[in-house]
Amino acid sequence: MSSDKKGPEAIKVILIGDSGTGKTNLITVTAGYKFNSNSLTTKACSFIQKIYNKPNGDYTVNIWDTIGQEKFRSLTNIFVKESKIVILVYDITNKNSFNNLSFWKKIVDDLLSERPILGIVGNKMDLYENEEVKDYELEEYAKKIGAKHLLTSAKTDSESIGLFIGELLDDYLSKDKKERIQSFALDKRPNKEEKKKCC
Ligand code: GDP
Ligand code: MG
Repeated sequence: MSSDKKGPEAIKVILIGDSGTGKTNLITVTAGYKFNSNSLTTKACSFIQKIYNKPNGDYTVNIWDTIGQEKFRSLTNIFVKESKIVILVYDITNKNSFNNLSFWKKIVDDLLSERPILGIVGNKMDLYENEEVKDYELEEYAKKIGAKHLLTSAKTDSESIGLFIGELLDDYLSKDKKERIQSFALDKRPNKEEKKKCC
């Protein structure tokens, strides 16, 4: 007997941030491949698919990689549109890449009509001796934009990023459920026209 209750659509996740912060490697290790120090800059597909088993059923998540378009300090509409979860990535050894997160967030905000679930990932924690971003700076920014945050390394920690995406997925699913309940409640409320007709 199948317990599969997944909806018809895959949930779109995007990773954005400066070039060189490790986005492609984070996606690669999420998919179960090994860290690659000669990063893949050319790939056949622009996203990987991962299935998350949740109590309500299995959910398919598509995790999209920019494949280098961020080098030109822009993102295409096709890359951003319909994303439900946006992960801002910086390199902990590069303060600039952290300062630029608000630039990337603004691009996404301008292209999305619905507010996404936000996450921030500080990558390259294996190089923590060269860390340039203080914990409180990360925490303050995360609080300001309402994001969950994670410090990790695509090189030495292949587990955390997948678990983090799973947590953001939980947030998305509970938000989605809340919105469905709210819109159901609104549907049930008689509109003004109906009220007038009635009395
Ligand atoms: P992208 O441009 O954001 O997609 O970044 P890449 O995944 O292509 O990585 C850029 C460079 O950083 C490559 O040389 C990677 O090998 C290196 N890199 C990525 N993640 C890590 C990490 O966690 N630790 C270390 N030491 N290097 C990393
Ligand atoms: Mg890349």
